Amino acid sequence: MVRRAIVASALPFLVLTSSTTVRAGAERATWLDAYREPAARIIGEAVGSTFAWQRLSVLTDSIGNRLSGTPALERAVAWAAAEMARDGLENVHTEKVMVPHWVRGAESAEIVAPTRHPIVMLGLGDSVGTPPDGVQADVVVVHTFEELDAKGSALRGRIVLFNVTFTNYGETVRFRSAGPSRAARLGAVGMLIRAVGPAGLRTPHTGALQYSNDAPKIPAAAIASEDADRIQRMADRGDKVVVKLAMQAHFEPDAESANVVGEIRGRELPNEVVVVSGHLDSWDVGAGATDDGGGCVVSWEALRIMKKLNLRPRRTVRVVLWTNEENGGRGGLAYRDQHRAELGNHIMMMESDSGVFRPLGFGFTGSDQARDKVRAIATLLSGIGADQVTPGGGGADITPATQDGRIPAMSLEVDGSKYFLIHHTPADTIDKIDPIEMAKCAATVGVMAYVVADLPERLQ
Ligand SMILES: [Zn+2]
Repeated sequence: MVRRAIVASALPFLVLTSSTTVRAGAERATWLDAYREPAARIIGEAVGSTFAWQRLSVLTDSIGNRLSGTPALERAVAWAAAEMARDGLENVHTEKVMVPHWVRGAESAEIVAPTRHPIVMLGLGDSVGTPPDGVQADVVVVHTFEELDAKGSALRGRIVLFNVTFTNYGETVRFRSAGPSRAARLGAVGMLIRAVGPAGLRTPHTGALQYSNDAPKIPAAAIASEDADRIQRMADRGDKVVVKLAMQAHFEPDAESANVVGEIRGRELPNEVVVVSGHLDSWDVGAGATDDGGGCVVSWEALRIMKKLNLRPRRTVRVVLWTNEENGGRGGLAYRDQHRAELGNHIMMMESDSGVFRPLGFGFTGSDQARDKVRAIATLLSGIGADQVTPGGGGADITPATQDGRIPAMSLEVDGSKYFLIHHTPADTIDKIDPIEMAKCAATVGVMAYVVADLPERLQ
């Protein structure tokens, strides 16, 4: 009885809902159907070869890692521009950006008492160095900022170890960014952090720190989880643990670098632009394959494939390979400033900087109307499982422009299970990347960029 009553009263609603669905479905089919064939061609071209992976292997093997200020980054800039021209991309050029030039130099850390053990470490990006003889001090282990502050004057002259187990990046990276100045304010002379990532096989993770202006600058380094665990065990037993830290890190004058730009010019509205992008710089360890050579290559592939298939969308698709994401963000800031007059004609900006593992779809930030459109476009990628659209799209390099220009922001989203294991480590090499998954990432970026650039009405 009760059930029947519910069904009866729900009936008018159901009828209304289903007729609305049919009408919306019919409308959607009209504009989306025109894109089924080009989307299938883009996917077929991408997954039909290992071109993207081969190109990334040239970048990571023949040029290698690419820290801001190094000749390797400038070789990568020149190589990318030349290769884009060879692909037949249009308006290929570089846009000058001055970037900070941090140099790691020789570095080491060692437990010197109660017995000697070498520590596997990487200095944090932008850290100051130690005096030539290093700093040697007792270690104080803490796990939270509250615990740090509670130690107060007990930290004077000590080396602080933040032994914080990795949960997720946002939660754990706070100690890498702010830890050195928080410890220095209490008188610490050096700072170590358990590497920000899941426990690997004695793998340290570098990454930038951020000094506050109101604290002395002290040297800071990440240490492998095994070394952090050893210090923790010793401290738990009541041992006085003494560590010697030696780092030659320093800054040299700003260096000239560039963002690399290439386009497929729009056939009807060439002044309206869809940007796809990744950052060409990397840390100075590993090969910058996952962070972010892969993101650069799959974004670039979107245009190479359009060119190869002779697909010219209504609007311009522009690939930008950013410089200096890792320790300054100057590439993204320079693009915003150099392109300020045309930000109003940026239809959408996408950044791929989460790896090129199995693609899941996209992150999206923008209006509800634009998100619905993007959701519909993403269904064209359901065959390769890349049709999700989740909130919170964007990237460090596109944020200055998307915020100032109020531009819809997207990111390529992929299976993230391996990313933070290799992030900013010597293990960031191309062997971790599967050519087929990477090809699917190129297809994912390519289909979205093509359709958004070709829509009869601009995404807004
Ligand atoms: Zn990155």
